[in-house]
Amino acid sequence: MSKHQWSNIVFGLLSIIFGFFYVYYDWSVGIWLILFACWFSLIIYGSFHIRSNFHLTSQSNFKTNGQVVALTFDDGPTEFTPAVLDLLKQYGAKATFFCVGKQIESFPEIFKCILEDGHQIGNHTYTHDKNMGFKSTKELVDEIQKTNDLIYQFSGRRTNLFRPPFGVTNPNFRRAVQKTNMKVMGWSIRSLDTVLRDDNKILGRILSKLEPGAIVLLHDSSQRTVDVLARLLATMEDNNIRSIQLDNA
Ligand SMILES: [Zn+2]
Repeated sequence: MSKHQWSNIVFGLLSIIFGFFYVYYDWSVGIWLILFACWFSLIIYGSFHIRSNFHLTSQSNFKTNGQVVALTFDDGPTEFTPAVLDLLKQYGAKATFFCVGKQIESFPEIFKCILEDGHQIGNHTYTHDKNMGFKSTKELVDEIQKTNDLIYQFSGRRTNLFRPPFGVTNPNFRRAVQKTNMKVMGWSIRSLDTVLRDDNKILGRILSKLEPGAIVLLHDSSQRTVDVLARLLATMEDNNIRSIQLDNA
């Protein structure tokens, strides 16, 4: 049972207990409203923080005895992916790319290059729609399956790794992931490379939390990330930290 389901049970039981005191001891409805606000806030927090494992279980880091981390790139393939691949090759680093189905259709040759370079592929839905959090279970299953089919069509390989766009989860995601047998991958370091405009800040965020077993979230969709990656890989090399793909993690 998920933490969300447990929270529903606890909220339901507390509501029944409140109902008893409301009827027999004249308790204020305000007490129940505070209870409701707490429960609702918990759900909102859990929906936007994949690491809380509130709606479903996800992996946000991995156990290791070595100086290794896992660099991951979301939202590609794009025209910036080749530069990312060149840098990874230059430093002998392996990574995992959570690809968007539509992007695979737009850049099939670049998608094939990711695999030819020996990196791991994950599923990041077909549309990467901003309203993904409002989709039904069936729509989410279609998003996942369509992208899995594309990955197989263009690579002959299958993946069971899935990362929800924006890290948003809810009960529909939980059901969709169960139905498609996907393993949900989160992260321990969110670089904010699509939000922050300052390379130094992005790099600083990553390096301040970089430790063995870390999973780093990046996006192969901007020159900024390419620039940050060049400095990150150089720093990692100086400190004997390697990047491996998630299926080896
Ligand atoms: Zn994304």
